[in-house]
Amino acid sequence: MTAETRTFIAPSDIVGIEYECGHCRARHLVPVERFDRVLYQCPNCREGLATATDASHTKRGDDSALHQFVDALKEIQNLSVKVRLELSGGLA
Ligand SMILES: [Zn+2]
Repeated sequence: MTAETRTFIAPSDIVGIEYECGHCRARHLVPVERFDRVLYQCPNCREGLATATDASHTKRGDDSALHQFVDALKEIQNLSVKVRLELSGGLA
């Protein structure tokens, strides 16, 4: 017999966004419900974190995707249909 374990999470299981600084490895956790701005600079070492979208919006930065992701996550958490996200086997 072969057993397979699959791991799912519900959108509501996602409660925080954690940044990890590529320079000092400090981690900064922001609750999803309080996510209103992107961290552009590491509070610990002052190295850059997320990149910014330029003023003319010709080059999208990390901030654009982060805002879109959090906005979509909040919307999906309140849908009438219940969905779950499957995690890759390497994370189980
Ligand atoms: Zn840092």
